[in-house]
Amino acid sequence: MELSKISGDIEKVVVTEEQIQKRLKELAAQVEKDYEGRDLLLIGVLKGAVMAMADFSRHLQRHIDMDWMAVSSYGAGTQSSGVVRILKDLDKDILNREVLIIEDILDTGLTLSWLTENLTSRGAKSVNILTVLRKPDAAKVSVNPKYVGFDIPSEFVVGYGLDFNEKYRNLPFIGVLAKHLYS
Ligand code: 5GP
Repeated sequence: MELSKISGDIEKVVVTEEQIQKRLKELAAQVEKDYEGRDLLLIGVLKGAVMAMADFSRHLQRHIDMDWMAVSSYGAGTQSSGVVRILKDLDKDILNREVLIIEDILDTGLTLSWLTENLTSRGAKSVNILTVLRKPDAAKVSVNPKYVGFDIPSEFVVGYGLDFNEKYRNLPFIGVLAKHLYS
């Protein structure tokens, strides 16, 4: 959906469609180098990482496996609840696999630190993280993503997979949601 259709809902665009695609292509080239001759299993975190997985995986010039998990740490609002629940688990065993988690955003880091531990405990050979966005708060927790698309300010953003009450996921860019919509 184009910005013009919902311009009143978006305070400002933080990352444009072009910037996202350029950066994902760069990261794909980096991942190809780092994983050369190695196994690579991409695990997408539903639903937010759907766009990133679709675009990033298509930039990769090599074979990959793909799996998905759905976890929940947020309710219907904009504040982290601190509770992580598995809503959908992986389809396959990841024993000895080289896992790259594909995530939309690293905010408090609660979700990704929990997920990294969870996947490591299943016997993965390696677990790394690619996140499209990272907020400054993430620095406070022990999550160290190997690949980061963009560092952004601590504001609630939507688009490119990120929702507010399930809306705005289908924006091709990332923007700050107008405050009047949730305050
Ligand atoms: P964390 O556990 O790092 O605080 O956040 C993990 C999840 O919270 C993300 O996967 C995402 O679903 C949600 N989240 C965090 N910040 C934002 C934001 O700015 N916008 C949206 N739409 N979701 C967010």
